[in-house]
Amino acid sequence: MWLKDDFKRYHYLVVLHTICTIAFVVRFIVLCTDLSSAKSDSIAFPVIILLLELGSSFITLIGNCIYIFLRYLGPILFESDHEKVGCCSQLFAWNLSTLTCFRCECYREHPQLVLVTRLSILILFEAMRFIAFILACVCANRYGPIGLGYSILAAFSFVPAVILLVVEYLHHHRLWFHYRPDTSSEEKPQYINEHKRFLPIAMTNDQQTSHWQNSRCDKGKDCLSRNLYHVIIYHSGNTRNPPEQTKDNQIVVGFHQTSHAAACSIAKTQLKPSSNGWIGPGIYFATSLNHTEFKANQFGAYICAKVDLGKTKRITHPKDWSSGDQCDTVYYEHPHGADEFCVQNERQIRSWIIVIDQDPNVRFLQEKNNKPLPSGKYVEDRLEDIVYQGCWL
Ligand SMILES: [Zn+2]
Repeated sequence: MWLKDDFKRYHYLVVLHTICTIAFVVRFIVLCTDLSSAKSDSIAFPVIILLLELGSSFITLIGNCIYIFLRYLGPILFESDHEKVGCCSQLFAWNLSTLTCFRCECYREHPQLVLVTRLSILILFEAMRFIAFILACVCANRYGPIGLGYSILAAFSFVPAVILLVVEYLHHHRLWFHYRPDTSSEEKPQYINEHKRFLPIAMTNDQQTSHWQNSRCDKGKDCLSRNLYHVIIYHSGNTRNPPEQTKDNQIVVGFHQTSHAAACSIAKTQLKPSSNGWIGPGIYFATSLNHTEFKANQFGAYICAKVDLGKTKRITHPKDWSSGDQCDTVYYEHPHGADEFCVQNERQIRSWIIVIDQDPNVRFLQEKNNKPLPSGKYVEDRLEDIVYQGCWL
């Protein structure tokens, strides 16, 4: 993929934003000179152009300044996500600086739209600047050399602005469409329909809150959303999921941990039931991402799946299970909340997203006999989460 290197892309973004800022300051000075020399009967044009410039480039400039400020001083100012400086929380400040403060309720269920919002706002700003440019061209003859100067400056500054939009889009594209841990062959592998996508673990709740395991969703443990994106990104911590009582044919979200190599192979085939297990043969799921740590034999990739429980037998002790049970799922209600369930048939698994631990403990994985990817590495495509700080949610 073009500009796959995260650091390089981030470097380009910084350079392009700086060029656009300098271009804006120059245009602003030219406009102010124009305004001061304009006659009262022809002042309307530069006033409208100035307002359009302030409504687009100036807002981006302010956003970028807050972003740089937060990136370096945010951790000193804000001790936790909910702590406020004045009336401004850290989360709000991040949203403001990344131009993603326009929030709809649907973003809860579709977090991938957050970056689309940022891109749309930037495109809208460019459209406003284009209108300003057209106005300047129309009235350039009225103001002589200065008006013409603004038009030429505006035309040239569209070049870095358009490249900037392309690089911004690549950021979104890389995160949601292109990221995969196995990149030894450049060709994209064929995944089965149930596999939605790979996501880096840095996008989950745990990595974004300074308070470990705080849910990013306001509804916390009462949240009933079964959208995979929502559950992974906002409730990846110790939030019990599914709820206290399961019903037959209920759709729940289950978590299963396996190795990087196995996850890449599952994305192309399917999860296969084991021939035995402590609550019967089948595919085992924990009810939160963290609980898979105590139940897995292989580590590094988390399969978060939407599972149809079908006919369910709920047990409170593993010995309550017997091979004669006529059910699709055995649900074990653990005394300390670490519930797990075993589904008999892979067809009960409707869809999944695979979350990849980007920074695995290689020694631990080797000790546990986890097979790496064919290239010998555990993660071939490392997504540098440090450059995405504050950008995605
Ligand atoms: Zn929620």
